[in-house]
Order: sequence, then C-alpha cells, then structure tokens
Amino acid sequence: RGGPKNLPIAEVLVDDDDCPENSRKKHKPKLVILGSGWGSVAILKTLNPEDYHVTVVSPVNYFLFTPMLPSATVGTLELRSLLEPIRRIVSRAKGHFLKAEAVDVELSEKLLEVSQTNAQGEECHFYLPYDKLVLGVGATTNPHGVKGLENCHFLKDIEDARLIRNKVMQNLEQACMPTTSDEERRRLLSFVVSGGGPTGVEFAAELFDMLNEDMGRSFPKIIRNEISVHVIQSRGHILNTYDEALSRFAEARFAHDQVEVLTNARVKEVQKDKILFSQKDDKGETVTKELPMGFCLWSTGVAQTELCKKIADKIDIQTNKHALETDTHLRLNGAPLGSIYAIGDCSTVQNNVADNLVHFLRSMAWEKGKDPEKMEISFPEWRQVAQKVKKRFPQASDHLRRLDKLFEQYDKDQNGTLAFGELHELLLQIDSKLTSLPATAQRAHQQGQYLGRKLNKLAQAAPGMTANEVDYGDLDEAVYKAFEYHHLGSLAYIGNSAVFDFNGLSFSGGLMAVYLWRSVYFAQSVSLRTRMLLAMDWSKRALFGRDMMN
Ligand code: FAD
Ligand code: MG
Ligand code: MG
Ligand code: MG
Ligand code: MG
Repeated sequence: RGGPKNLPIAEVLVDDDDCPENSRKKHKPKLVILGSGWGSVAILKTLNPEDYHVTVVSPVNYFLFTPMLPSATVGTLELRSLLEPIRRIVSRAKGHFLKAEAVDVELSEKLLEVSQTNAQGEECHFYLPYDKLVLGVGATTNPHGVKGLENCHFLKDIEDARLIRNKVMQNLEQACMPTTSDEERRRLLSFVVSGGGPTGVEFAAELFDMLNEDMGRSFPKIIRNEISVHVIQSRGHILNTYDEALSRFAEARFAHDQVEVLTNARVKEVQKDKILFSQKDDKGETVTKELPMGFCLWSTGVAQTELCKKIADKIDIQTNKHALETDTHLRLNGAPLGSIYAIGDCSTVQNNVADNLVHFLRSMAWEKGKDPEKMEISFPEWRQVAQKVKKRFPQASDHLRRLDKLFEQYDKDQNGTLAFGELHELLLQIDSKLTSLPATAQRAHQQGQYLGRKLNKLAQAAPGMTANEVDYGDLDEAVYKAFEYHHLGSLAYIGNSAVFDFNGLSFSGGLMAVYLWRSVYFAQSVSLRTRMLLAMDWSKRALFGRDMMN
C-alpha cells in the first residue's frame, strides 16, 4: 500500500515470473498505455517488444474499427466484424492487459489509479506505477447542454450501434401493426440526425440505403413516401470541415435522395416523440419549429472524458476545456518532462506555426545572403511560405485562401514587401485561429505510430538501464524529431458513393468510388482477420441483402 490515497500498489504484476521472457522484462522501464483505440493500438504495433514492461489498461477488451461503425447500425456489416480482440494485439507486444478503468494520476509519484469491478460486484481501486504513461483514452459525446438527450441515441461504441439497430427494426415492425394510425406510422418512420459532421452524414446515408434497398422486400406494407430522413445542422453546410466541393456534393446527393437537410438550425430540446429546434429563415429571423420523430441520433462533436478533466484540473497550465495540451513531442504540458504523453482525440498539439517556420525562414534568408531579421519578403516568396504552412498545418489552409489580401493587410508600411516582423505577426495571427488537429482515426494512428517509434529510440539511447536509473529529461528532443501531421485526405460515404478530399484535390463518384472507399479502409484496417470478416459481410449483403431483424 502507499501513495496519497494509501491504496494497494500493483508493484509487479503476478504473471511476471511466469516465464523467463517475462521475468527478463520485469526491470525494464514500465510503460503504461491507456485505451485500446486507434492511438494505443498504433503504438503497440510499432513498439519493439523487448524494450519496455508494457501494461495496457482499458475498460473494453477490444479495438473498434470506428470508420465502419455507421454501416453496422443498419446491418450492412455485422457488429462483431468491427471488433478485434485487444489481447491478441497486446500479446504481440509481449505486454499485460488489464480490463479496468483509469480514474486518476498522481503526477509526482508516477502512480496511476485504476478502478476495477471485482467478482463480488464491488468497485475496487489500486495503483499501477509507471515510468512512462500514454493517455489514449479518446473523447466522449458532447451534450451541448441540450435538454432531453436521454431520448437520443449516440454512435461512439459498438453497444451504441447495437441499440440503434434494435431501435430502427423496432420502429419498422411497429409501423406495420394494423393498430398503428397513419400519423403514428409517419412519426415512427421519421428518422432525425442531429449533427452534419461525417458521422451523422454517413449514418443518414447508410440508413437511407437500407430503407431503399432492403425494406421493400421485407416490409412490403410500408409505403416509401411515409419514411423521412432529416439532418439538422447548426452551420450553413453539412460536412463543413471538408472541402467546399465535397460539402456541396453531399448536399446535392441528399437533395436527390430526399434526405432533408436543415441548415442553420439549432436543437433546443429532444422530447420522446418530437424534436424542437430553432432555425433562421430567409429574412434572418429565428423561428422555432418542431419535427415529430421516431428516432434521433445525437452526433454533434466530442467532449473531454472524466479522467482528462481530472488531469487538466491538477495542472495549472492545462486550461483548454476541450482537450489536453501537449508540446510538439506529444508530451503532456505541465507534467514531469517525458513521463506522460497524450495522443488521439483526448489531446491537442500546440502548433506554434510561427516558431515552426523560423527554420524555414532562416534558410530562405540564408539563400538570399541576408540576416533573417532584416529580410524583406516579396509576394512570390510569401506564396512559398504559405505553401509551406499549408503543407505542415493542413488545417491552416482555410485561413490562407486569400494570399493577396493577407499580404496587403500585413504589409503595414505598404512598401510591397513583408518585413520579418510583419510576417511574424501574420503567422501568429494564423496560429491563434488554428484550433486543433482533426479528431480522426488518421491522426490518432499517426500519433501512436510516432510515439511507438520514439519509444524505441529512447530505449536504444539508454540501453541496459533499469527504470529507476533513467532520467528522461530532454531525451525526447535529443533522439527524435517533433510530431508532424500528414493529412492523407478525408473521405465520407454518401448514398452509394464516396467523396474524397485529398489536400484540396477533391473527387467524388459512383460505384467505382465506393470500391475505392472500401479499399482505403481495408488498407487502414488492422488484421487479415478483420479484413476477411468485412469482405464476407459485404459479399453476403450483395447476395442476400441485409438481415432485417434485431
Ligand atoms: P478511441 O479510438 O476512441 O479509443 C479510446 C480508448 O480509450 C477506448 O478503448 C476506450 O475504451 C478507452 N478508455 C476510455 N476511457 C478510459 C479510461 N478512463 N481508462 C482507460 N481506457 C479508457 N476517423 C477517421 O479518420 N475516419 C473515419 O471514417 C471515422 N469515422 C468515425 C465514425 C464513427 C461512428 C466514430 C465514432 C468515429 C469515427 N472516426 C473516424 C474518428 C475516430 O474513431 C477517432 O478519431 C479515433 O477513434 C480516435 O482514437 P483514440 O485512440 O484517440 O480514441
Ligand atoms: Mg487509443
Ligand atoms: Mg477506437
Ligand atoms: Mg488546469
Ligand atoms: Mg512592408
């Protein structure tokens, strides 16, 4: 026992002396990884199994292939096909797995407080010591303070998908009852999606496909025009974080498919059988409307988990309400250096665009034989700089649309060139506008891979040392580069077609695009096992249609 709360300390995990292999690793630095999602799995796949004593803690013992989750809600894919047993992945990294929840961290003692439900059904807490801790706990659903969310469904985990599937089927079955009135039937068949981001849009598209392709055969009684699908979006467009062309394509597609898109609309309250929202009309006036519904999916962004809130509260400089802030080496700001990392949806990297570009600007000045502080940047050179910024910070592209305007605006002395100070000012301004890296599997995967590689390097840099002897300090910077995000494009599925957004290059199309879409996700998918399961699901659906049952 020990630590501030005097809890039992799991000093050495029981099975460490089981086999020679495990006892050899007993004295290696203790690496504790939280979560079994995209970020954590990417680390486990990259990590050299010999270098650390690895323990993974997660309340679920599977990895969930989230990009396919919307397809599982309507039976295009089977739920279990999207799950991969995490123990198989952990054992490849020769680590331990604990199906438990991390609830707190003692930063200076390097103790992780873990909560687990014992055989008697009681919650018990213990400490797990670490030398390095990785937070990959993801995020939770954002309630936005709206009343009546208990009447909504969410789409985050596999259980959510199961509940949605049951509810959709239940509504269809009830709609067919001879005792159901016409009005009631239309309500049961009114499906509402709140949130026009990728998850909401893909779900609406999947639902529409299912109602169109398989319902006629299984539910001949239901008349097609009694069904309605609605997407409520607070912004002016759906998929507003994507390229404009894609957003327009999606809207056109939905218009064609008769999926109603309600933009500039804010949900006020969700009741059992209807949803209340306000919407700006053509004259800019706000009117309150209501929509009878039989099903509502709530999918409007993410919020911090309890654990992350608790950690942020302990550290003065962690003031961001949405995510834990790290430096560009993914180290948690304010924690003892090199002891805690945060990756994926639970974290955000502080960008410092201006600082990041200093090196590039220096080499630019050097080429011109100038002192960077005294350099004057012409418009073509500014365009080069902007190109560099866009490449390194793809999310900055939005703020770099009108290069000439920005140039004019920041060329305060209007001499046709930007002085170093003027440029610096401009970059700082962009910096302040950048929110964070996208909350995507793509990002979590890249960060996990980066961290896995770095941990390997760190182990090489201090070989043969036991955990206690290693003082990590600034070692991160000495052995490895800063994290750099590579935007590989976004991709969404909308009504039997896929739309892509690859760094400004956008593409959308029909059947061929669907196959491309699938193959992209195949490649990202984790194991051959998962790939085979998905392929079998698709073949089955193509041959026999979806299973219309709970
Ligand atoms: P997650 O993958 O969410 O993993 C978090 C893990 O931490 C989970 O295993 C959880 O159980 C565990 N955990 C939570 N709390 C604790 C705790 N206290 N202690 C220990 N463990 C804990 N991204 C894309 O790039 N493309 C897509 O097409 C796409 N589609 C999506 C569709 C849906 C329906 C959803 C929900 C997400 C989608 N995403 C997509 C986003 C992507 O899934 C996330 O960005 C990604 O999962 C983030 O990875 P992560 O490792 O940070 O967190
Ligand atoms: Mg994770
Ligand atoms: Mg996941
Ligand atoms: Mg704080
Ligand atoms: Mg000037």
